[in-house]
Amino acid sequence: MTVEASALDAAALRADFPILASLVHDGRPLVYLDSAASTQRPTAVIQAMTTAYEREYANVHRGVHWMSERCTDRYEAAREAVRRYINASAVEEVVFTSGTTAALNLVAHSWGDAHVGAGDEILVTEMEHHSNIVPWFQLAERRGAAVKFAPITDDGVLDLEGFAERLSQRTKVVAVSAVSNVLGTINPVARIVAAARAAGAVVVVDGAQGVPHGTTDVQQLGADFLAFSGHKMAGPSGIGVLWGRRELLDAMPPFLGGGSMIGEVTVDGFTSADLPAKFEAGTPPIVPAIGLAAAIEYVEQIGVARIAAHEQRLTAYAHEHLEALTGVRLLGPPAAGKSGIVSFVIDGVHAHDVAYMLDRGGVAIRAGHHCAMPLHKRLGITASNRASFYLYNTPADIDAMLKGIDQLQEKFRKRQRRRRSAR
Ligand code: PMP
Repeated sequence: MTVEASALDAAALRADFPILASLVHDGRPLVYLDSAASTQRPTAVIQAMTTAYEREYANVHRGVHWMSERCTDRYEAAREAVRRYINASAVEEVVFTSGTTAALNLVAHSWGDAHVGAGDEILVTEMEHHSNIVPWFQLAERRGAAVKFAPITDDGVLDLEGFAERLSQRTKVVAVSAVSNVLGTINPVARIVAAARAAGAVVVVDGAQGVPHGTTDVQQLGADFLAFSGHKMAGPSGIGVLWGRRELLDAMPPFLGGGSMIGEVTVDGFTSADLPAKFEAGTPPIVPAIGLAAAIEYVEQIGVARIAAHEQRLTAYAHEHLEALTGVRLLGPPAAGKSGIVSFVIDGVHAHDVAYMLDRGGVAIRAGHHCAMPLHKRLGITASNRASFYLYNTPADIDAMLKGIDQLQEKFRKRQRRRRSAR
């Protein structure tokens, strides 16, 4: 068995994450099942950021002094770490942003305003996060274009026929998530790219839930842009990435204007800097970038494929046990078609009550629409619960959630019985 294929030891890895030793609500151990919202960070990442602040910090790219040059080296080394992680062909294709949302807005403004016009269409899917919907609505409003939604099936899989029907010569952008943040559905990005290319559309992949949980090779992926966030992959918040194909980025106008993104400024105007500085106006997220590099090194040491396999086992385990419960409806496809995300609704109990009651027992899950209101509307619900897994979760975490669900269902059943007998 190769190291890559061997199972990771999540119980041992937990020791790398100090926050997982927290006790909540009168001494209950924290069971953290909300990594799709934000993962936790290992000591290696926290330490890299502390060291940067204590010993390596100055503003980047501007100083001629030693500390600035050293910090610039660290910042640019982080860009190289990202390039390696996603196998981009050049560091110039890696633009640091504050997160996925900022990266998607950058594309919608810079590429979108230059290439999308009246009567054009932008094709997204019904399962997108608001970050991959709203910037396209805003672009459509600015340019007189229209946003179309590719349908999903009842079990939360992209309807490829419906997608193809909505794709036409008018489609300028196809914007799709690699993995749904609610359903966990792994989308067939390669097929989507092939179809979009044939129609002449550019493909923007929202990789917020995909890049942290599987191997990414942008050269193989074939898409034009990919956005993701550091805080969902053991890194800090405040840092994200826009990867773009170089010829597209080269031809795009800058998005934000300010320091660092210029070649020259005169009283008559300005010229833009070369890539990637052109898209990094102002002081960038320096220390978060250093933290992201440490996170990448950490997950690379474990092996992204091993992390994905571990999460897949947890997803299958959660599915098997949740399916066995009466009154629990699982959303999305069977476990095999999912990344480490399991969402569900419980009959007669509001999602917020479920999350609140589980939290009292120390179990942190998500409740609400998860920034995917069109998806919830499509599924005929207003809110759901989401448990999401990362390299540090174990089946015992899922058992704790199942126990909490059992207790709250029993409580609600008793309450119903009392109400019926009082009638
Ligand atoms: N897209 C998806 C699929 C997400 O899950 C998220 C985060 N919930 C985002 C976009 C937005 O990411 P961020 O808040 O880091 O910008």
